[in-house]
Amino acid sequence: MAKAYLGLGTNIGDKKQNLCHAIDQIKAKIGNVCSLSSFYETAPWGFESENQFVNAALCVETTLTPEELLSTTQQIERELGRTHKSVNGIYHDRIIDIDILLYDDLTLCTPALTIPHPHMTERLFVMAPMAEIAPELRLSPNGLTLKELKNRLEE
Ligand code: ADP
Ligand code: MG
Repeated sequence: MAKAYLGLGTNIGDKKQNLCHAIDQIKAKIGNVCSLSSFYETAPWGFESENQFVNAALCVETTLTPEELLSTTQQIERELGRTHKSVNGIYHDRIIDIDILLYDDLTLCTPALTIPHPHMTERLFVMAPMAEIAPELRLSPNGLTLKELKNRLEE
């Protein structure tokens, strides 16, 4: 059984409900959710929008491979009504975004999937919920903990 950390974000509609629906679908289709962060209200990042985001992170125990996990999170995004994909770093308002942040201690870089998520350590809206649920976790054996990485973003 692998442990995967997922980052969730939403900035349109009933955002708390969007996150709750996504979490229900993750439990049904991916596996047991063993930790879940608080919901964080954050400003849009990388694009202009009047719609604030709500972000969260969770840890899920799963038998899915990373590729199966990606296709399942994308299926959940579509089922919740997400229509746009971000292409070439152009971001849109979204009902739900589910990103794979970590998958055990796997490092993967294919055209479809990069793990750890390449921008996670730069983004407080990812690192704040991650540091809440896994403060002592390190991305590499001698690296900083998630809590230390998050504190660096706040300096
Ligand atoms: P963003 O999350 O940057 O707003 P999208 O959710 O639209 O963008 O994802 C764009 C593409 O990013 C997806 O089609 C997926 O193949 C790719 N991708 C690469 N690595 C990851 C990852 N770790 N988690 C989720 N998607 C990823
Ligand atoms: Mg995404």
